[in-house]
Amino acid sequence: MAERFGELAPPARLLLGPGPSMVHPRVLRAMASRLLGHLDPAFLRLMDEIQEMLRDVFRTGNQFTIAVSGTGSAGMEAVLVNLTEPGDRVIIGINGVFGARMATIVERCGGRPIRLETPWGRIVEADAVQQALTRFYPVKAVALVHAETSTGVRQPLEQIGPLCQQHSALFIVDAVTSLGGIPVEVDGWGIDACYSGTQKCLSCPPGLAPLTLSDRAVEAIRRRTTPCQSWYLDLSLVADYWAESKRAYHHTAPISMLYALREALRLVLSEGLQARFERHGLNSIALMAGLGALGLTPFAEEGHRLTTLHCVTLPVQVQDAPVRAELLQEFGIEIGGGLGVLHGKAWRIGLMGESSTQANVLTLLGALEKIFLRHRWITQPGIALQAASRTYFGHGQQVPV
Ligand SMILES: *Cc1c(COP(=O)(O)O)cnc(C)c1O
Repeated sequence: MAERFGELAPPARLLLGPGPSMVHPRVLRAMASRLLGHLDPAFLRLMDEIQEMLRDVFRTGNQFTIAVSGTGSAGMEAVLVNLTEPGDRVIIGINGVFGARMATIVERCGGRPIRLETPWGRIVEADAVQQALTRFYPVKAVALVHAETSTGVRQPLEQIGPLCQQHSALFIVDAVTSLGGIPVEVDGWGIDACYSGTQKCLSCPPGLAPLTLSDRAVEAIRRRTTPCQSWYLDLSLVADYWAESKRAYHHTAPISMLYALREALRLVLSEGLQARFERHGLNSIALMAGLGALGLTPFAEEGHRLTTLHCVTLPVQVQDAPVRAELLQEFGIEIGGGLGVLHGKAWRIGLMGESSTQANVLTLLGALEKIFLRHRWITQPGIALQAASRTYFGHGQQVPV
């Protein structure tokens, strides 16, 4: 009898969109390892190791540092539903899709989001945060997106932590598209709650949300007078599972995902955070040089652009969907389209984790050049590759004679 469904055979893809990013074969192999019970001492040891490595990556001494089951959005939801009680005011910087999502979650918890609306592509100014903290005092928390994946903006955070402390507010940071790609200093910047996702700069498949809470944040959860509206993401219950002394069953940990995260974190730490940030920086400059030669312009304000996610606006003649379809069909390359107001007008190109390599930058630029030449949007072959190559040669690589 013929099989109704063929064996799984996903096509080969170069993932250069807003996530998921490319995954190292070692991580995929770890996922294929045999299962352990989730209360097996061998598995509990592995959880301890993951916590230890996550503290290194988050740059924190926070005892409460775990991986929440679920994608980055589960991290966002876990932080907000645990820290928001009915009536709580939460200041939220909104300059893209992800800030708006945070406000929606706070609203669903019965909280009162104070929306610091800022034009897309611009940062949320520290002055605006300070004014809102004073005007709406008392405020439970300030929440900002470090790396706004919809616009490519890198939000400065250094000044916000002290402001929050002066006004007895907690500081919440979305580090989904930054952790492991650009510096994130949880302790150094006075962040109380920080979450990320595995599928972006950590280069692990989607499925876990690394999350860390300061003692102040843990205390705020302990002092809640109403139960957290989510049972699955109730961090006081989840904490008892991760706590070495308790290991109380809450839900079955996604074993294979934790294997993968352990291996991905090992790769991050063996490369070294600083080296990793520099790699993301160099490949970003080269990519932007090449895209600039093709007539694409960065959307985010100058001086506040991410090196992990590049949001570029298209020249009027360039059609969004057909080019992305050609990239995928002809070259197996995935990039992202614009979100919201940028739909059809911009691309989002991720160079996150394993995806951030010279080979990938040059492959993408070469493919774009060919497509642009075919449509006669450019006339000179090689302009994008030359621009990118010059960046690499300018950074210590030798120009061949
Ligand atoms: C991707 C992303 C999320 C959501 O993560 P998922 O893994 O898609 O659930 C949240 N915040 C930001 C800034 C993101 O880029």
